[in-house]
Amino acid sequence: MLCKEKHFPVVLVAPSGAGKTTLCKHLLMKTPKIKPSVSVTTRKPRPNEVHGKDYYFISKDTFQEWIEAGKFCEWAEVYDNLYGTPKEKLTGYLNQGSHVLLDLDYQGAKALKREYPNTVSIFILPPSMDELTKRLVKRDKLSTETKKRLNSAKKELAKVKEFDYAIINDDIDKTVEKINAIIIAEECKVGGL
Ligand code: 5GP
Repeated sequence: MLCKEKHFPVVLVAPSGAGKTTLCKHLLMKTPKIKPSVSVTTRKPRPNEVHGKDYYFISKDTFQEWIEAGKFCEWAEVYDNLYGTPKEKLTGYLNQGSHVLLDLDYQGAKALKREYPNTVSIFILPPSMDELTKRLVKRDKLSTETKKRLNSAKKELAKVKEFDYAIINDDIDKTVEKINAIIIAEECKVGGL
């Protein structure tokens, strides 16, 4: 194959507070050729989160049934909750000729790349650790959950070299532009996988 397969999963990984959720929303608004993968989770919805749009919120029992039925292309336990990527939508979008945007944790990105080796993985970095702490505390004060997320962020940041690309998210519009540039470059890449 001369060129890389044209339609691929694009997975964004970032520590909580790096601005990934807002970034995904902007990217999807500005880039019609990318479709969102809506994950399934056992976490309780936050205010303003919509079932079927932000996540599919399901019980632990139902999640277990989905695992047993082989409905996930990857799933992981993150901060004591379960999260998974439904297989059907992802393959459907790829087969229809779209790229698919996924917002996953580190383990999920690794698992997805094993399943779909043409996945493009992008690590989103916060402007600084201080800024990350400020954003998380603003969201949820310095709760046990926030402390857990900060510790996990420090560990995740050390793994940046395992990704195809890394972007410092200090300006949302520029970050969207960079991701679009990466997608175009990947579409034009010579050589198959
Ligand atoms: P949050 O609870 O803040 O929405 O997400 C917590 C973490 O779970 C984030 O790092 C997010 O990227 C990750 N996550 C969301 N959906 C999935 C998924 O389907 N699979 C995996 N492995 N991680 C996910």
